[in-house]
Amino acid sequence: MSDFATGDLQNEKPVKTIEDLIAKVRTYFPTADVTLLEKAYQVSERAHDGQIRRSGEPYIFHPLSVAGILADLKLDLASIATGLLHDTVEDTDITLDDIRKDFGDVIALLVDGVTKISLMSFRNTHEKQGENIRKMIVAMGKDVRVILVKLADRLHNMRTLNSMPYEKQALIAQETLDIYAPLAGRMGISSLKIELEDLSFRYYRPDKFYELNQKIQKQEKERYHYIEDVKKLLINEITKAGFKCEVYGRSKHLWSIYRKMLNRNLEFEQISDILAFRVLVENLNECYGVLGHVHSLWRPIPGRFKDFIAMPKNNNYQSLHTTVIGPDAERIEIQIRTQEMHLIAEKGIAAHWKYKEQKNAGQISDQFDWLRDLVNLHQQSGNSDEFLENVKTNLFESEIFVFTPKGEVKEFPEGATPIDFAYSIHTTLGNTCTGARVNGKIVPLKYKLQNGDTVEVMNSKTQHPSKDWLKICVTSKAQGKIRTFVKEEQRKQALIIGKDIIDKEFRKYGLSISRFIKTDEFEKYLKENGLQDLDDLSVKVGYGKLEPKHLVERLAPSSVVSDLQNFGPGGVANDTPTFLSKMVKSAHAKTKSNSLVIVEGLEDVLVHFGRCCHPIPGDAIVAFISRGRGITVHRADCVRAYSMDQERQVEVQWNKSSNLTLSRTTKLMITSSDAPGLLKLMSEAFAVQGVNINNATIRTTKDKKAVCYFDVSVKDASQLNQVIFDLQKIKGIISVERMRQK
Ligand code: MN
Repeated sequence: MSDFATGDLQNEKPVKTIEDLIAKVRTYFPTADVTLLEKAYQVSERAHDGQIRRSGEPYIFHPLSVAGILADLKLDLASIATGLLHDTVEDTDITLDDIRKDFGDVIALLVDGVTKISLMSFRNTHEKQGENIRKMIVAMGKDVRVILVKLADRLHNMRTLNSMPYEKQALIAQETLDIYAPLAGRMGISSLKIELEDLSFRYYRPDKFYELNQKIQKQEKERYHYIEDVKKLLINEITKAGFKCEVYGRSKHLWSIYRKMLNRNLEFEQISDILAFRVLVENLNECYGVLGHVHSLWRPIPGRFKDFIAMPKNNNYQSLHTTVIGPDAERIEIQIRTQEMHLIAEKGIAAHWKYKEQKNAGQISDQFDWLRDLVNLHQQSGNSDEFLENVKTNLFESEIFVFTPKGEVKEFPEGATPIDFAYSIHTTLGNTCTGARVNGKIVPLKYKLQNGDTVEVMNSKTQHPSKDWLKICVTSKAQGKIRTFVKEEQRKQALIIGKDIIDKEFRKYGLSISRFIKTDEFEKYLKENGLQDLDDLSVKVGYGKLEPKHLVERLAPSSVVSDLQNFGPGGVANDTPTFLSKMVKSAHAKTKSNSLVIVEGLEDVLVHFGRCCHPIPGDAIVAFISRGRGITVHRADCVRAYSMDQERQVEVQWNKSSNLTLSRTTKLMITSSDAPGLLKLMSEAFAVQGVNINNATIRTTKDKKAVCYFDVSVKDASQLNQVIFDLQKIKGIISVERMRQK
């Protein structure tokens, strides 16, 4: 984004009447059918009749001005009509249906979008702000023109902020700096961004604004001759080389200078490159030609040359930037670009519409991928804080440029990793990314890409995205794709588990779900629970959100009732127990006493123990429904347990009445001095407590210590603790630790 705009919106002729507006539209769209604008004006004027702005002017002046700004951006008639109508639904008797009837669906959608954004405040708490930005992004996703109208609305409000109460001015200015100016920048509309920033600056820090403004005006006066000299020199040199050009020169805008002073902790007098010159030429080759001449005229400052032509910014900005030591040893910045690039730089996304009426006019074009990604991410991310963080990174943070092995340029927010890079190329590449070769060297997934890196993605078919990846990537695209993958994967697993659980539940009663899926009762059950089909149901069960028991009760009440009557506590046996119900009852009892753990809500479920932490009876435990194999039990403090999907956690406890005498294996690490005979003492300690050693590995360290790893079979935690206690008493043993995977 450039620091100064030459096609300033504030220099455009203001619109005071509908005739002014139509004349302005005709300057760029001579054949426009303006009846739409006339009609929109009439409706708006009638609706706002009698309303007065704080400034004392009739209200209609505001929508007219907003429409005027949109015409300055050379937007299409639908946007301009929306500008005229944008406050009618919020502030007058007119309804959205009225607008739809009179102006059609497109304008109704635009007015609705602008109204919704107007009702949001970004001055609230963090969470509210995130939520509102999220809504705004959604509105933008429907039609980008919504945000263009909103930006024009905000610009006119900023231009007339003087009439607002003093306390409100600073707040509105802050909000404009936080949200609307960056948004204009991201849309590539530098003229709008610059004016919004300087207007905000005036109300946000009036003291600093006026001080700086005075200094710059004084300097510009003093420098008048200097600026003219540099311009003349440039024009002479470039014309001599046979190119046609336009040259502009002036100070950068106030807010950018003030920010530089703040960031670098400098006084105004210490800021060196305040002057910037812009050279507009006719074609791309001439840009580089002119650059050569500039560099032969004045010495360039190393590291300050940026080629945004070869690598356009995300918002499509293209230009060459260089800083040189100009006359009188003054540092000056020179930007070189074509007229066409200039149009994009000043008007950004707005340059794409111009006056062309086209289908799908408001759809996000391919060049604004980042916006599309944000809209997609919004639909996946449940957490508004996380979303806000993402918007901030993707919308407002600085950028880095890296290269593909073929030399193509890719642009990322700062902090991007090989994962972001891989997803920017292809989803499959992202999903299988294992790391990258950066400038020929292998780097891990979490490596932060640096400006100028050449990045080659490494991948493997067996690699899959995990939730952890979300923490090490920054682009909305990568986050969205990872989330989609993880969700699908979890759904697949839940489906398998759920099917299994349902099958088992039905089998308990000698039934099969397949007999019921065509029944009305089943359909009714699905509907009540908001489910589509059996798969949907299985997923819910797999996640532990529905109990299949209730399903059996609903679909085959008689099977369940007879079971209860015969065997339930206090049940009266008025029926001969069937063979089936007997079997169910005994199977029931057997599972309970046989299993080491009891899982809430699930009986007869396959139980595994985490190989990472080897829980034994007595340990604090947690359990998770796991991929197609029932549930997996972890120790409560196992790191793996933290990384599991918490949605799949189920309540679990050790079965105290378990009649199993099976032992569980766990691992111990014993560090000792390398004294002979210690191993014998250790194995004796195990034997005394009746603990079997399944496996032992011993390593000696350089500092003459021995580290022994034991796989041992124990009954429960108290037996293990006794052994550990005994071992620690042995002379020469430094530590005894129960192992867990890191
Ligand atoms: Mn308004």
